[in-house]
Amino acid sequence: MEKHDKGIHHITVLSGEAQRNADFYVKTLGMRLVKKSVNQDDPGTYHLFYGNAKGSPGSGLTFFPWPMAQQGKPGLGEAVTVALAVPADSMDYWAEHFGAEGIEFKGPYDRFGQQAIGFKDPDRLQLELVFDQQAGQLRGWDKGTVPPKHGIRGFRGTTLRLKEYASTAEVLKNVFEFEETDRKDNARHYTTDAPIGGSVIIEEAESKPSANGRGTVHHVAFRAEDDDELETLRKKVLEMGLNPTKIIDRHWFHSVYFRSPGGVLFEIATDGPGYDVDEDPDKLGQKLILPTWLEPKREMIEKRLPDINI
Ligand code: ZN
Repeated sequence: MEKHDKGIHHITVLSGEAQRNADFYVKTLGMRLVKKSVNQDDPGTYHLFYGNAKGSPGSGLTFFPWPMAQQGKPGLGEAVTVALAVPADSMDYWAEHFGAEGIEFKGPYDRFGQQAIGFKDPDRLQLELVFDQQAGQLRGWDKGTVPPKHGIRGFRGTTLRLKEYASTAEVLKNVFEFEETDRKDNARHYTTDAPIGGSVIIEEAESKPSANGRGTVHHVAFRAEDDDELETLRKKVLEMGLNPTKIIDRHWFHSVYFRSPGGVLFEIATDGPGYDVDEDPDKLGQKLILPTWLEPKREMIEKRLPDINI
């Protein structure tokens, strides 16, 4: 049997206005809107999911758009950068594309052996494109606004900013099978061999704690192969003296949440059933999908939500 890929499953971020968010990720970055749903804890607001063609684990960047939310400030105890993988030979395309779109970027600079550029989304979330040697072999989203050969394949990874690295590194190693593969200045690089989502950087710093709000990461989810592995990983989290939730059915995957020692909210999410469980794979993201218990309120919910044009 093929070995299951370990690494990041999805990353969830708070954003401002939904249309502006969709414009940026779909029209500017060329990702696919793979699911349009509501925040299950606040059904008057959206939950938007972007990814590669299938929104496969390792590619899901999801947002809770709250138009009235205050601007967040990244800081200690949080994932402060989301890194997206594009093919290694795509640098010229993206530099030109960002120039044409008026998006400022820094770099290219070295990110643990790969070239990267840094830029911000409209809510000032810090993003990176990593020109990744493995990414060219993977599929992105062929029908998007970016030519398929240059498109985003999924995550390269994320950077956590923490007061001390060791206790969170233990979780990455013991539970999620990451290994420390490099170090530079105040940063350590943890990797798995997954082609997407296999990189976490821990950056030690003495800054202020983060202030939640638009443009800040809500949680980082890591992959479990199936329900059995989810149980096993949950037990490992318990054995480390941490406090995981019960298993929650998120419809597209099953999840457990826990606060990592460094303060970042982690989730463990199963690879399946996946985003095509309730929609035709060719039509992902077109219709508002509600959990069954909210279906009776569909009409009211749809009325309250602003339209999104893709
Ligand atoms: Zn999640």
